[in-house]
Amino acid sequence: MENETISKNFIEQIIEKDIEEGHCKVVKTRFPPEPNGYLHIGHAKSILLNYGLAQEYHGQFNLRFDDTNPTKEDIEFVESIKKDVEWLGADWEDRLFFASSYFDQMYEYAVKLIKKGKAYVCDLTPDEIREYRGTLTQPGKNSPYRDRSVEENLELFENMKNGMYEDGSRVLRAKIDMASPNINMRDPIIYRVAHMTHHSAGDKWCIYPMYDFAHPIEDAIEGITHSICTLEFEDHRPLYDWVVRECEFENPPKQIEFAKLYLTNVITGKRYIKKLVQEGIVDGWDDPRLVSIAALRRRGFTPESIKMFVDLVGVSKANSSVDYAMLEYCIREDLKLKAKRMMAVLDPVKLIIDNYPEGQIEYLDVPNNQENEEMGTRKVPFGKVLYIEREDFMEEPPKKYYRLFPGNEVRLMSAYFVKCESFVKDENGVITEIHCTYDPETKSGSGFTGRKVKGTIHWVCADTAQEVEARLYENIVDEEKGVYNEDGSLNLNPNSLTVLKSCYVEPSFSDAVAGDSFQFVRNGFFCIDTKDSTKEHLVFNRIVSLKSSFKING
Ligand code: ATP
Ligand code: MG
Repeated sequence: MENETISKNFIEQIIEKDIEEGHCKVVKTRFPPEPNGYLHIGHAKSILLNYGLAQEYHGQFNLRFDDTNPTKEDIEFVESIKKDVEWLGADWEDRLFFASSYFDQMYEYAVKLIKKGKAYVCDLTPDEIREYRGTLTQPGKNSPYRDRSVEENLELFENMKNGMYEDGSRVLRAKIDMASPNINMRDPIIYRVAHMTHHSAGDKWCIYPMYDFAHPIEDAIEGITHSICTLEFEDHRPLYDWVVRECEFENPPKQIEFAKLYLTNVITGKRYIKKLVQEGIVDGWDDPRLVSIAALRRRGFTPESIKMFVDLVGVSKANSSVDYAMLEYCIREDLKLKAKRMMAVLDPVKLIIDNYPEGQIEYLDVPNNQENEEMGTRKVPFGKVLYIEREDFMEEPPKKYYRLFPGNEVRLMSAYFVKCESFVKDENGVITEIHCTYDPETKSGSGFTGRKVKGTIHWVCADTAQEVEARLYENIVDEEKGVYNEDGSLNLNPNSLTVLKSCYVEPSFSDAVAGDSFQFVRNGFFCIDTKDSTKEHLVFNRIVSLKSSFKING
């Protein structure tokens, strides 16, 4: 960064004040995913924010699975989430935790609240509880069970734990204030009866803590100093503070809210993605058109590009949507100097050099990245028959078309000048061959200055080329119409995937492995697909084209 005095975001300001005033010795943050789905780009922001703060202040970062809700969790997601967090570079070291391992302590804290007269068992039905809660404009009413004695509450709560009551028949509530202007403070439920098997606690429990009670306790047990969450929890903060205060934690954690990251015209909702997967519209949760972290990885995004993106977006208190083009800008920036630039022809037509010796193959020196000399050069075979892009030839060119047309001369990138002499069409009028002559004097790097040409095109030598598949992507939803129709269905873009089965690449890919990325000159950045590609049949995902509609200010 040129500018040394980067201004601190509001979370950094809070942390620095806490350190200065002696409220916090070691900064401890956490990422607390619920293992009920794959992580997406929004979660990446939360992960990198929490991890980044721990790094910045030489603190600690915990990965904690918030698995207190037995209905939704799935062990499959635990593994995928760990993989994604690790891939992003957020290292939790030995601090991997599961909220369910605190169930005993949570129960004890609930008992403590009862003993302090701060919690009671309530027998109202769910509907009655809702009715008693009041509205935004009207205060609530006290439950008739609010003034039960401590002894009675202790006994009933223990009965709840021992499975004596049906689901929904009784709850434990915090005794706060039914007239509070903040509805979250109107005696919120902190434990419910649910006869369900938990993926790790098994059948030990038939009562489960509610999120607003469990989360602050999890944070406090782990000694989290700054519990960073998204804006929708702002109204829950008084309850968070109430729980850690009434449970009498020393050095309680502080909740800080920031705005969620939203991308325009992408699908992140689990419900929608599930449907797309089930209907076979996408190829799983990691389909490269999605923005789950697994999908971004498969598409060819790098952790560095995602970090750059998250940094550019910044941290704020106001919700807003960020254009997908900004994410594309970041991957282009990241790969620009890192990725090898290879020649690949996506829509091939044959070019035959009539005056080039039959059967001869020569090996030309081609730079691996014109902008980064350190990447060196490689040998690329050249011969009499080449493939070029169909769009690089026109029988009747418009003005300012500088590529091949009858009589015109162009440079074959890193090779020779060729002049178009004739072409062949099949019975349907499709061009099948373009015939040229080449000038041996014009070899690239030979210092030839005799004449100039206006166009340069790329090519692949037909005899040595490898046939590969390329998958080109567009946004999965129609950008003009937006993500959803009025009825809530998705506005899918029918052209979101184009599969090109007969593309040709130079033979330099023999060492390439799944996940490797390249620039295909003029065609964009591509990544070898980790699911479908094999050594014999390479499959490339286009990460992004080379042209950008996105500009960074300044
Ligand atoms: P979703 O419903 O989109 O899957 P979630 O909030 O249910 O999200 P959690 O597993 O509960 O997912 O979230 C884990 C953490 O990620 C939470 O701290 C949450 O605030 C944060 N998070 C979730 N979505 C975003 C987002 N779009 N931007 C930033 N942080 C997010
Ligand atoms: Mg959630």
